[in-house]
Amino acid sequence: MKLVYSDRYDLNLGNHVFPSVKYRLVKENLLHEHIVAPGDFIEPPPASDDDIALVHHREYLRRLQTGKLSYLEVLRLEIPYSPELIRAVWLSAGGSILAGRLTLEDGVAVNVGGGFHHAYPDHGEGFCVLNDFAIAIRRLQKDRAIERAMTVDCDVHQGNGTAAIFGGDHTVFTLSIHQENNYPYPKPPSSLDINLPDGVEDEEYLRELAQGLDRALAEFSPDLIFYVAGADPYRDDQLGGLKLSLEGLEKRDRLVFEKASSKHIPVAVTLAGGYARRLEDTIKIHTNTIRVAKQYAK
Ligand SMILES: [Zn+2]
Repeated sequence: MKLVYSDRYDLNLGNHVFPSVKYRLVKENLLHEHIVAPGDFIEPPPASDDDIALVHHREYLRRLQTGKLSYLEVLRLEIPYSPELIRAVWLSAGGSILAGRLTLEDGVAVNVGGGFHHAYPDHGEGFCVLNDFAIAIRRLQKDRAIERAMTVDCDVHQGNGTAAIFGGDHTVFTLSIHQENNYPYPKPPSSLDINLPDGVEDEEYLRELAQGLDRALAEFSPDLIFYVAGADPYRDDQLGGLKLSLEGLEKRDRLVFEKASSKHIPVAVTLAGGYARRLEDTIKIHTNTIRVAKQYAK
């Protein structure tokens, strides 16, 4: 299984609740635990502006590249603007495009980054500047590598940007399972939203996800799934109010791969959020996702 990664994925946020150093730590942990080998990692090129413009407005890209975001736009991002941030998000989008292509070859591939599901066509918010996997889906469609895609978003926060981007598009099915009483507000409708109450634990979560996946895959046959494998449904997350255990999160991963593999649908993984009080828990959750992913690669 191939993993797409760059040292420059780090968003350069310093001591922020978003631990963007996690990408490097996940890579190191995967090597340390001998889950993957150094040669399995591929460095992505940045996405081209034309690729990004398949989803985002050119005027927004121009403001990002020239440092001309307004004060309110930066406030809404909730992360500081820097040239390193812009470089990182262009690379993350390139990484998801590459991961999507590799997934079509190997059945599974991982972008050890991305999952920026709160980014809309004309603005970013909630730590998300560019919607990397929406860009990847559009690029793969343009290349005629795929016709139909599904997003399975298991981050604790609803995939509002993704829902807005693909709303009314019958070639992309968006599934989001999330805590209802949490950011973002409003939540534009996904193809299927599973709105969970506060404090949901493993068993109920897994039951709801299994039902949701069955329903989605009965209704829609994608050529590719983008799995947005947020670590923040974890019970010790600082920005989430669900109560999944480490084991429950690993069962969640297995459920997604199991359902997809039963229908022979390739799965591309992106990491998305993760704000555990102990950074090592976030690293462990992402590592477990990738360990499970590897078991489903060709
Ligand atoms: Zn999140």
